[in-house]
Amino acid sequence: MNPDFSNNRICQLLGISYPIIQAGMIWASGWRLASAVSNSGGLGILGAGSMYPEVLREQIQKCKQATDKPFAVNLPLLYVEIEKHIEIILEHKVPIVFTSAGSPRTWTARLQEKGIKVIHVVSSAAFAQKAEAAGCDAIVAEGYEAGGHNGREQTTTMVLVPQVVGAVSIPVIAAGGIATGQQMLAAMALGASGVQIGTRFLASEESSAHPDFKKMVIESNEGDTQLVMHKLVPVRLLKNDFYRRIEAAESRGATAEELKEILGRARAKKGMFEGDLREGELEIGQVASLLDDILPAATIVRNLLHDYASRLHILQQGL
Ligand code: NDP
Repeated sequence: MNPDFSNNRICQLLGISYPIIQAGMIWASGWRLASAVSNSGGLGILGAGSMYPEVLREQIQKCKQATDKPFAVNLPLLYVEIEKHIEIILEHKVPIVFTSAGSPRTWTARLQEKGIKVIHVVSSAAFAQKAEAAGCDAIVAEGYEAGGHNGREQTTTMVLVPQVVGAVSIPVIAAGGIATGQQMLAAMALGASGVQIGTRFLASEESSAHPDFKKMVIESNEGDTQLVMHKLVPVRLLKNDFYRRIEAAESRGATAEELKEILGRARAKKGMFEGDLREGELEIGQVASLLDDILPAATIVRNLLHDYASRLHILQQGL
């Protein structure tokens, strides 16, 4: 039997059955993945950062056709055409928006006026307090283990979650390094009301990441991801030729401008969507080294719940 989360703050806030939230991942989380997670009782998210406005519109429409459950859009606030994305979200009455990489003061009130729940991603207790002051409904506390864009504080999830939980009164969702039910239980033991999971869902059948990238993710080992581009936006990547060039440049003290030049444009698409495993930017979390299979999203949710419940049972036995 699945655990009962009917009194859980995040489930109540978002109208979902399980506090399992799929992260919005550029090039990997379109309507197929988001609707599969929502249909399984969690919350699916469309990763709008890589979508042109018309693509986002189409993805929202398809997601609505594929599920009658709540789903969300993740909006990196530094997205170039953010106002168009906001208009589309309002027009299509998306019920929940996760914002990241920017100030929550800018858009939260405008979205909430239309009845949209707003959840902001932070990497420190100080940012969490700012998000609460901006009126956000909940917070994602994302630790150092996470893939893609990362905080400058380099605080691990184990340290970050209790710090954030102690600093705010709105519900906290833990993220970074969570792919199993045991890890979900640990995050909730630290005070989180839910978990956000990226890497495990990227390696799913429904994710739109390139099959070769998914394969590289599940074949990766300890130490295969590292944080780079500290002078731009720190990003956790799988090691490949591009990573090694960036890493070498950073080691010799390259400037932000030089790093930008090496990065160029559309490298995330090249790696994660087009499958150029040598020259693409391969954003993934540290927990990739724990994964060894590509599964349907519904199986991932089922496994999370099963492993959460069985580990809880073992702990309750005092074993
Ligand atoms: P680049 O500037 O290198 O390239 C832009 C990419 O975004 C291109 O591949 C382009 O597709 C696509 N794109 C989607 N909409 C637009 C638009 N309106 N104008 C121009 N390009 C668009 O950016 P990145 O690939 O590094 O990042 C893309 C987005 O993803 C950014 O908004 C960024 O904030 C977000 N991001 C979020 C991360 C996270 O962890 N949350 C991590 C990394 C990025 P095409 O090639 O088909 O033109």
